[in-house]
Amino acid sequence: MIDLRSDTLTKPTDAMRAAMARAEVGDDVYGEDPTVTALEERVAGMFGHEAALFTPTGSMANVLAVASVVAPGQEVLCESSAHIARAELGAHGAITGLTMRTWTAPRGQVDLAAIESMFAPDMGMYFVRTAAVSVENTHNFAGGAVLPLDDLRALRSWADTAGTKVHLDGARLWNAHVATGTPLADYGRVADVMAVCLSKGLGAPIGSLMVGSADAVLEARVRRKRMGGGMRQVGVLAAAGAYALDHHVERLADDHAHARLIGEALGLDPASVDTNIVVVDRPDAAAFVARAAEAGVRISAVGPRAVRLVTHLDVTRADAERAASVLASL
Ligand SMILES: *Cc1c(COP(=O)(O)O)cnc(C)c1O
Repeated sequence: MIDLRSDTLTKPTDAMRAAMARAEVGDDVYGEDPTVTALEERVAGMFGHEAALFTPTGSMANVLAVASVVAPGQEVLCESSAHIARAELGAHGAITGLTMRTWTAPRGQVDLAAIESMFAPDMGMYFVRTAAVSVENTHNFAGGAVLPLDDLRALRSWADTAGTKVHLDGARLWNAHVATGTPLADYGRVADVMAVCLSKGLGAPIGSLMVGSADAVLEARVRRKRMGGGMRQVGVLAAAGAYALDHHVERLADDHAHARLIGEALGLDPASVDTNIVVVDRPDAAAFVARAAEAGVRISAVGPRAVRLVTHLDVTRADAERAASVLASL
């Protein structure tokens, strides 16, 4: 069975497990786990931000990041198929008490004209205030699409003028970095707060980080504990993330090549496959997924007529070639 349902399916390698076993640990709620602290400082530095906070999931990192810039009763604008809107089970509304309005753009891109037309500054008694705009890079449900740096910079400068904040869901920002060669710090500069995941293509078993100012991270540390996310000798997990940053970033290029190979076999323009995700329009998505599984390739339906497949660390070139031929024949 070749499993292309998600890049979260990767299992820690032997070398990663050895790094976990060696990790120095302490009680992180006391701020005394040196491996966690080092990872937080390292990741904050990579993006040119002051601080970062290790979280069990990307969803928690996103909730903490968005809540640091959007208060209850305020709104965040995002693209209509954004992970924060579709795939976090309403956490931002249920936990933070914010509202969302969305724009819809092909490939999940930044539509500055739409954002400008929706934007609501503080208008007193009548309108919900837009406190932040959220963007997702790469964009998961848009097929791993990269948001061009120029568009992000235009959003940043508009947001500064308008007086609103920018949140970046960078669960797969590493993929955008490898696909385009854009320095991570350039992505960091366009965002006030961000979330990045170690447990997607990077292959760690668990772990994400919220990244932002020292004040925002301090506040998020309190909220994380309130949500039950204060963790103790968690350096064993942070060590897996540090190992992934050392060894699994550049190799994402292989995943991208594998995804392009499969996309091409399915008749897509290979130039439309930016990174490690391929989304194909199929009117019979659920039935197609079932037939693929029978033929030995697991993929997922992400909408009534959308199937998604994701390449990752545990998918070899030979696996990708076999998946391409199986899926093309179906
Ligand atoms: C996976 C993902 C997250 C976080 O997911 P968790 O499963 O909670 O770790 C956030 N944003 C995007 C775009 C994702 O793909």
